[in-house]
Amino acid sequence: MNWLTNFVRPKIRALVRKSDIPENLWEKCPACEQMIFHRDLEANAFVCRHCDFHMRLTAKARLAMLFDDGDYQRIELPKVPLDPLRFRDSKRYPDRFKEGQARSGESEAVVVAHGRMGGDGVVVAVFDFRFMGGSMGTAVGEGIVSAARLAVLQEAPLIILPASGGARMQEGLLSLMQMARTTVAVDEVKEAGLPYVVVLTDPTTGGVTASFAMLGDITFAEPGAIIGFAGRRVIEETIRESLPEDFQRAEYLLEHGMIDAVVHRHALRDTLIRVLDLLRRPGPDAEVVELPKPDLEIPTPALIEGEPADPAPES
Ligand SMILES: [Zn+2]
Repeated sequence: MNWLTNFVRPKIRALVRKSDIPENLWEKCPACEQMIFHRDLEANAFVCRHCDFHMRLTAKARLAMLFDDGDYQRIELPKVPLDPLRFRDSKRYPDRFKEGQARSGESEAVVVAHGRMGGDGVVVAVFDFRFMGGSMGTAVGEGIVSAARLAVLQEAPLIILPASGGARMQEGLLSLMQMARTTVAVDEVKEAGLPYVVVLTDPTTGGVTASFAMLGDITFAEPGAIIGFAGRRVIEETIRESLPEDFQRAEYLLEHGMIDAVVHRHALRDTLIRVLDLLRRPGPDAEVVELPKPDLEIPTPALIEGEPADPAPES
């Protein structure tokens, strides 16, 4: 009997077990609610084919998309003490931490990697939102500092792609201190004369927006990404006014001069390569030849006739 239950039954079970079909074969677009085949979605960089909605990416997918041939090396991030405040809300912080690790498959909310992009070396730090909402605790701060130091060491540009709800409340003041630390860290990159580029992805909020995420030499954002400090509801309740529909969206920020460009995910890698190339090699490749000046008379601003000014109001 034992032989039957212990040996034969598992064998038969293994034979009839379903083959390895991923459970999430279909995914629903959060914007247009169309069902999309997972493989199609992956082939399209997780951009909806129907409405162009940019879905959130894992750190792994993000890195594979950016580096040449998807080839990169991760660096190990410094270990920091976990749960220094013995914080507990509805769950203990270590439990939430483990959940984050299980959900994302990452050891922390930030991943730092280096490799080549367009043939030149770059250092990239990317957030995984599935890990406790990409929140910035001491370890994430260490991650950004490590990324910045590595960039300086390798004389390579630094690219950061945040996706974060802000500071990690479970670490209280220690997480707020990371705002200052990361600011100083990216400053070291700038002082070394190296480009620092930020790609704001959905969502970038709170203490991350209020520190390194808004300090890029060049700041890009993905279409439709939510970027802000306080949440929309909090602001509406504070100022007792309703906010415009596209408030805190990438396009709204572009219109208001907060970012340099909104870049489609399909064009992101090429755009980054082009911009880094311009920043690293500001001079032209060939000798500059002076063009013959066109024989045009350029009016000075004073000569340009405009609309007559409104007559002064009669008193
Ligand atoms: Zn869609």
